[in-house]
Amino acid sequence: MALNRLDRLYQSLILEHASSPQNRGVLPDATHQATLLNPSCGDTVVIYARVVSDRIDAVTFQGEGCAISMASASILTQVIRGKTLSEARSIIEDFTQLVSGQEVSQTQRLQDAAILKGVAQFPARIRCAQLAWKALEDAIETNESEERS
Ligand code: ZN
Repeated sequence: MALNRLDRLYQSLILEHASSPQNRGVLPDATHQATLLNPSCGDTVVIYARVVSDRIDAVTFQGEGCAISMASASILTQVIRGKTLSEARSIIEDFTQLVSGQEVSQTQRLQDAAILKGVAQFPARIRCAQLAWKALEDAIETNESEERS
């Protein structure tokens, strides 16, 4: 039973993102950057973001890890690009709740990230799914004072 659900979890979009990730690579003119590790699975994600006038106009990632962590990072770059910092924070919060199995009122904002909802059934995978999103959160919080000054 769990295996069938796990199979579905890895299917289609997730596999596609994991095998052909979007926006993977260093962003040379990034204004924000953070690296996070998920030791329990061995995932590493580095998030790069370029913030111009309070808006994330480019976001890329680098790293190695399981299909869930890589797919989630790839999806993040698509969902977050073009968002303001406050929109990004709100989306990160919604995503964190969604993959933890909590109800989220505005799933349409999450776009493809909503497909990772199934991760909530696999507690060991929740951190994999959240890794890139927490890295982005770190990146935009850490450098915020510089950005606003
Ligand atoms: Zn993982």
